[in-house]
Amino acid sequence: MSAATGANPAVFAGGYRRPMRPQALAPLFASLQSLSGVGPRVLKLFARLLPGPTEEPRVIDLLFHLPAGIIDRSDRPLIAEARAGAIVTLDITVLAHEPPPRGRARVPYRIRCEDGSSGVMLVYFHARPDYLQRLLPVGARRLVSGRFDLYDGLAQMTHPDHVVPPEDAARMPLIEPVYPLTAGLSSKVVLKAAAQALERLPAIDEWQDPAWLDRRKWPAFAPALRQAHAPSALPDLEPSHPARARLAFDELLANQLALALVRGRIKKASGRPLKGDGQIRAAINAALPYSLTGAQRMALAEITADMASPDRMLRLLQGDVGSGKTVVALHAMATAVEAGAQAALMAPTEVLARQHHRTIAPLAEKAGMTVALLTGREKGKTREKLLAGFAGGDIQIAIGTHALFQEDVAFRDLGLAVVDEQHRFGVHQRLALQSKGRSAADMLVMTATPIPRTLLMTHYGDMDVSRLHEKPAGRQPVATRALPLERIAEVTDRLASAIRSGAQAYWVCPLVEESEKLDVAAAEERYAALQKQFGPRVALLHGKMPAARKDEVMAAFAAGDIAILVATTVIEVGVDVPNATIMVIEHAERFGLSQLHQLRGRVGRGTGKSSCILLYQQPLGETARSRISILRQTEDGFLIAEEDLRLRGGGELLGTRQSGLPAFRLAELPRDEELLAAARDDARLILSRDARLEGARGQALRTLLYLFGRDDAIRLLSAG
Ligand code: ADP
Ligand code: MG
Repeated sequence: MSAATGANPAVFAGGYRRPMRPQALAPLFASLQSLSGVGPRVLKLFARLLPGPTEEPRVIDLLFHLPAGIIDRSDRPLIAEARAGAIVTLDITVLAHEPPPRGRARVPYRIRCEDGSSGVMLVYFHARPDYLQRLLPVGARRLVSGRFDLYDGLAQMTHPDHVVPPEDAARMPLIEPVYPLTAGLSSKVVLKAAAQALERLPAIDEWQDPAWLDRRKWPAFAPALRQAHAPSALPDLEPSHPARARLAFDELLANQLALALVRGRIKKASGRPLKGDGQIRAAINAALPYSLTGAQRMALAEITADMASPDRMLRLLQGDVGSGKTVVALHAMATAVEAGAQAALMAPTEVLARQHHRTIAPLAEKAGMTVALLTGREKGKTREKLLAGFAGGDIQIAIGTHALFQEDVAFRDLGLAVVDEQHRFGVHQRLALQSKGRSAADMLVMTATPIPRTLLMTHYGDMDVSRLHEKPAGRQPVATRALPLERIAEVTDRLASAIRSGAQAYWVCPLVEESEKLDVAAAEERYAALQKQFGPRVALLHGKMPAARKDEVMAAFAAGDIAILVATTVIEVGVDVPNATIMVIEHAERFGLSQLHQLRGRVGRGTGKSSCILLYQQPLGETARSRISILRQTEDGFLIAEEDLRLRGGGELLGTRQSGLPAFRLAELPRDEELLAAARDDARLILSRDARLEGARGQALRTLLYLFGRDDAIRLLSAG
């Protein structure tokens, strides 16, 4: 196998070069269109159904799409005894065909049948008469299987799933898997495609430890997939079924192995001690209008100890919204500068990068550091000048978006890379930034999402963690209230009086399912209505606006010129305007718990009394009701995250949908927590024995990484 293609470190710096995938796997990575029965129209439907890393679904994506139920056709009642709504197999004789009258295509084609006990009508819409005459000739006996219904008291079966002559009874499957479907895609099409996909499975060397497989009584990979696609009874659908458990473990092992490789690479590139004299930090503290909290000091002690050691730092700074992570980052960056190196801070959005620049630059400059901002908007001469400043070392602190890790960005001596709101970045972006260091930049990753331990493990491996568990003093709890949307007038009335006395407010409009356009339209409508009532001090902010306009609005809001900021969830993460004390969330029932917590965290940042009003649409569902009640009970982000995980599962919590990180397809957390822990230990053990995955099992494990789309990690193995 030739996974090792070239050793060019430039692959980290933006250009995404795929390592060579083993030839044997090619049929699995072909487009689904390569299966018979899948043309462009069906392909589109599959694309809606199958989450995968590529736009066009591939054979492997279908293989990972497991049945969610079974149809049992073994029930063979007489027509007179059949229950409405049941799946049955009837033994009938065809009496007569009743085609629709000429020119009335909407009337179905009917075929009258009986079995001695009673009659039944087979019903076909848009039928081809010649086909039906061949399938069900008058006078013939047939076995027909499908859903039995009563329509106006008459027995009927619409579009039977199977029709066979009695002598072919064996051809009709008694048990059939039921796949999760999407509108327009029939179960027959999926079944046929899945059967072909399974035939493509090549002979694959085992990557799991044989003793472990034995102990668990798990089948090999290909048989496991075949079994999982052919359940014969309900227990076969349980996640604990050996086939399904094995596949879930495979997916988790691929995840843990990839993370361990990333971590191993980051740690291996040996760091260097970065030790400052504390002068710049002292100047920053003197310029701050507050003193650091105990939690901030503790986190900083851990960070500076890591930086001072010759090993490379790889640390996660976890702090709930409003806990004050930015100033911790500033101190860490100052430490790097004191030691003679440069530092970079990368934010996931332009709005956040600019905000960081606005807060950090004045403090940093007062303390004698040079700071510059680089986003996608700095172009031409401006950009050239910035790049020269980074490369020459004149700029000590770089703040920016992913524009910071474009290929032509080089630093004279990058000592520390800070990544804010990390979960929005993918693994290879993380690697790109760290590869910018001369030898090996220390890494500090900040996240506001209080990630439960299991998720931490699946997304970061075992990073070192510092926690800001206490908020700055003087914060008052945010008064949280929930009101039905009908009472919106009360809210705007109270808003009016608050604004007259100088308050500022956010008004968040919901995400409309699957359509950013509708989303924006809803916000625009609310904006127009509020503007009518409040005049020009209302502004609109949404993701589709030009970046320059977004900044303008944010800056005006931060300066207090705007009283009400109507926004979509673009303000969910990181925005900091301490004077804003009111948060209105419209259609709160459409948001997830952690999202609501993040949004509420935009207020309650100063010393003023803050409030959060959750406007909801009646009637309120069970889950939405519990979300709102949890929010009203607590502001503890960890508690909320755990509850969120319980209410809706991990992918959503980390916003993987937005970030493009693949959610698990076969495993599920927290259900598979125990398997995850085992996978982590296994990954460590594997790499301690064969760090470059070169042995026989190592080669098989590379195949595992390919199968689960962890090619990034394989690239690490080739790039020395
Ligand atoms: P987050 O952790 O959500 O990124 P920020 O870094 O934006 O939080 O800080 C939230 C607010 O708290 C900011 O307005 C910041 O100036 C303020 N802040 C940070 N640390 C302290 C502190 N020790 N005392 C008082 N206010 C603080
Ligand atoms: Mg922040």
